[in-house]
Amino acid sequence: DEQTFIAIKPDGVQRGLIGPIISRFETRGYKLAAIKLISPSKEHLEKHYEDLSSKPFFPGLIKYMSSGPICAMVWEGRDAVKTGRALLGATNPLASAPGTIRGDYAIDIGRNICHGSDSIENAKKEIALWFKEGDIV
Ligand code: ATP
Repeated sequence: DEQTFIAIKPDGVQRGLIGPIISRFETRGYKLAAIKLISPSKEHLEKHYEDLSSKPFFPGLIKYMSSGPICAMVWEGRDAVKTGRALLGATNPLASAPGTIRGDYAIDIGRNICHGSDSIENAKKEIALWFKEGDIV
């Protein structure tokens, strides 16, 4: 089955949103295949966001992502990458529809609560970056 990498960013963990976010994926019908809390190194985060390294907001993004533990997860099921992104909502929470995670819980693009892989190829890369093979059931 298709797998995607979903992460609850430091603001989401700090605000107590791990439960509600997991609940949305579970009730939609996805299966949790791996989960851990992690405080990743700066190098790890720079690798995760390497495609954005030239953006003006990159240093702030790395700082934000380093500001507390992250809940890293692998979710599995039909069309998990595309539907996972739909559950999260648009990157800019002000453009996220109500009913999506960002649309219900966020207003700031620099604190948008969660991450989801944007393609099957990137999902594979991100899962390999954040998890060891034996961690995934
Ligand atoms: P994510 O990869 O977190 O799921 P995304 O793929 O929807 O987000 P990207 O364009 O890859 O969006 O941006 C990655 C992250 O960088 C965003 O989720 C957000 O936290 C941050 N970001 C993007 N654009 C901006 C911006 N203009 N100002 C501040 N932060 C930004």
